[in-house]
Amino acid sequence: MVGSALIRRLKSEGFADLIVRDRSELDLREEFAVTKFFTEEKPTVVILAAAKVGGIKANNDFPVEFLLDNLRIQNNVIHAAYANGARKLLFLGSSCIYPKFASQPIPETALLSGLLEPTNEAYAVAKITGIKLCQAYAREYGANFISAMPTNLYGPHDNFDLETSHVVAALLRKAHEAKTRKDRELIVWGSGKPRREFLHVDDLASACLLLLEKYDSSEVINIGCGEDISIRELAQLICDVVGFDGELVWDPTKPDGVPRKLLDVTKVSALGWRPSIPLRQGIVQTYNWFLKNVARSTPA
Ligand code: GDP
Repeated sequence: MVGSALIRRLKSEGFADLIVRDRSELDLREEFAVTKFFTEEKPTVVILAAAKVGGIKANNDFPVEFLLDNLRIQNNVIHAAYANGARKLLFLGSSCIYPKFASQPIPETALLSGLLEPTNEAYAVAKITGIKLCQAYAREYGANFISAMPTNLYGPHDNFDLETSHVVAALLRKAHEAKTRKDRELIVWGSGKPRREFLHVDDLASACLLLLEKYDSSEVINIGCGEDISIRELAQLICDVVGFDGELVWDPTKPDGVPRKLLDVTKVSALGWRPSIPLRQGIVQTYNWFLKNVARSTPA
C-alpha cells in the first residue's frame, strides 16, 4: 500500500529513474538477494516502505514473524544502502513504537519512555531497532538515514483480509458484505472506545517526499493528521459511506489495543506539510477502490 502510493506520487512529480521491485522479484528478508540487488543497482536514495505489517490480531498472533521478518528486511536494506553509497535513506516506522500510555498527542520524545502495548510489541520492537540502526549509521558513519513514524494508514492497495487487516479495511469489507447479504448486524471488535488517528496513504507519500527534500536529522519525525476519532465513530462513518444501516454489535473477546494513539505533528507541520485528504473523502475513495479491485473478485 505505501510502496504503490510512493510510486504514484514520485511518477506524478516527474521522477523517472525509479528502481522498484515487488516481493515476487526480490525477497528483502534474503541477505544475499538484497546485497546483489544493491550492488547492481546502487540506488542513490532509498525509501524502506516494505515491512511485515498487520492489524491487531495478526500482530498479536504472530510475534515471531513480525519480529524476525522486519528485523531481516531492515538489517539487510539499511546495511546494503550504506555499503553501496546511498546518499539518503528514509526508514518508515509506525506510531506503535510509542509506549502504551504515552501522553497525547504523542511527541517524538516519548520513544522508549515506557512499556509498549503487548498486542503489537514484537512489531514495535523491530521498528525501534530499525530507528536505532539508522541513528547508529548516522552517528558512527555520518549517513543521512532518517526515520518517519506514520500514524494508522489506509487507502488503495490496503490488505482487506479480515484476519490480518487493520480496522479501516476490515470495517469497509465487513460493512460491504453485511449490506450485500442484507444482514441486520455487523460485528466490530473490542469496545469501540479506543481512539485512533487515520491518514490516507497518498498524504503519507507527500510527506515522505517533503522529508527527502527537507529533513536531514536522524531524530524520528511523526506523520499524522493531528486528529483522532473513536472506533465507534469510525464504524458509524464507514457504515454511512457503504450504505449499511443495520446495528453495530461489539465483540468484547477481541482486544482494544492501546486506548489512544494520536501523534504530535508539530515537527512535520513546521516543515510546511499538511495532509490534504479529509477522512470521509479518503474512506469514500478507498471504498470505491475496494469495489473495483477486491469485491469484484470475492463476492460476499
Ligand atoms: P491498532 O491500531 O494497532 O490497534 O490496529 P487495528 O487497526 O487492527 O485496530 C484498531 C482498533 O480497531 C482496535 O481497537 C481493534 O480492536 C478495533 N477493531 C474493531 N473492529 C476491527 C476489525 O474488524 N479488525 C481490526 N483489525 N480491528 C478492529
